[in-house]
Amino acid sequence: MKIAVAGAGAMGGRVGTQIQQAGYDVTFIDDWKPHVEAVQKNGFEIQTETDTYTVDANMITPDDVKHSYDLVIILTKAMHSIEMLTQLKDKGAITKDTAVLTMMNGLGHDERFSKVVPPEQIYLAVTMWTAGLRGPGQLLLEGTGTIDFQRIDGKESERTHEINKVFEDAGLNPKVSQQVMQSVWYKAALNCVLNPLCTILDKNLIEFAQYKASREMVQLVVSEIVVVAKAKGIELDNDTIIHKIEGAYPADKQGLHHPSMHQDLYSGRLTEVDYLNGQIEAYGEQVGIPTPTNAMLKHLVHQLELTHVK
Ligand code: NAD
Repeated sequence: MKIAVAGAGAMGGRVGTQIQQAGYDVTFIDDWKPHVEAVQKNGFEIQTETDTYTVDANMITPDDVKHSYDLVIILTKAMHSIEMLTQLKDKGAITKDTAVLTMMNGLGHDERFSKVVPPEQIYLAVTMWTAGLRGPGQLLLEGTGTIDFQRIDGKESERTHEINKVFEDAGLNPKVSQQVMQSVWYKAALNCVLNPLCTILDKNLIEFAQYKASREMVQLVVSEIVVVAKAKGIELDNDTIIHKIEGAYPADKQGLHHPSMHQDLYSGRLTEVDYLNGQIEAYGEQVGIPTPTNAMLKHLVHQLELTHVK
């Protein structure tokens, strides 16, 4: 199976190197020049809890694509994904036989991807793996995780089982899901709360939780999401979301961490807020449900982007 990982930063690097180390033919595609050059020269430098090692990798830019692939895994940031997908299709990397899978955070990827590639070729995934990028070519890979994935039309094919085998061989703990959309919404709900609030307040999770009315703040965001999800045909349980969010507060969970949006903004990069709170607002407009809290969070993060993103 010929596999391309397009958007080969932290998560693309994690998933792609694990698949390559399981013996598969993997091409990494990225357009951040210093990163591409570093990996071409030295491979990925990988730091884990116990070890530092190097993995040689075939890294190219989208302009250099010359082949088609059986599986393309899209792991750009959400705002760059459609440009990457379109480039790969135009370059012939994606044909009618290519499966396109993404495990990006956020909502609406299924609808946007379907405008470029037929839905029967698209897979959505939710991952609990994490990864960091310490600099060009330098991955920080700690902890373990899982990948739940499903074809967005809900059907299974031989390709579904081939992808599952690839992930299994790579030790990525996959599962073919029967309800990936619900899992995507649950993860997005968490991200819609903790990402913007900790970013706007410049706090880690424990610091946010110390405010005695933090649950009231969380509930304002979550209640809008649950109602919008229901109108879109997705059943979410309000208390389950609150429980998952508060379960992340302790120091031995994610308490001491700043969410990825915080890291993006304060490193001078655009955030994925339009695919979280902004997408809730857009869906709310679609189904006639006002979402003022999510809309305000989106605007506040965009205000901060104006000052922090060069
Ligand atoms: P990332 O920022 O590490 O990489 C995404 C893209 O940005 C890559 O093309 C990378 O080369 C480029 N990039 C990274 N740093 C850059 C810099 N300083 N200047 C210019 N370009 C730069 O993003 P990621 O963490 O791999 O996330 C990809 C997707 O996966 C996102 O949708 C994210 O929400 C999701 N995700 C990430 C994690 C995680 O732990 N990292 C976990 C689950 C889901």
